[in-house]
Amino acid sequence: MTPRRPPKPLSARTERRVDERSLARLAQDRVRLAKLSPGGAPDRPITVESSSLVELRASALPCPRCTGEPRVDEHTAHSVDGELLRAARTSCKQCGFARVVWFRIEQRLVN
Ligand SMILES: [Zn+2]
Repeated sequence: MTPRRPPKPLSARTERRVDERSLARLAQDRVRLAKLSPGGAPDRPITVESSSLVELRASALPCPRCTGEPRVDEHTAHSVDGELLRAARTSCKQCGFARVVWFRIEQRLVN
């Protein structure tokens, strides 16, 4: 009687490939989510009280692709539908992923 062979385990390489694939899918989901999150588009800006906070806040948002730390490359003002918005263009220090984070400046009025 020949013993039945147990099913062949996945080779380490196959497992790694599966991991990489699911990681890539996860990264895609995070990138998609980042676009839907506050700051991800001009119609959903992050509200800050002063323009000096734009770069601070933008660099505090982890890279959606690798969760690395982004660097602010450019900070520009845009008029969108009559509203003045700020856009921080960032790129990830780790993977280079580039994105734009949108802000609205809402100054607190002091009487
Ligand atoms: Zn990254």
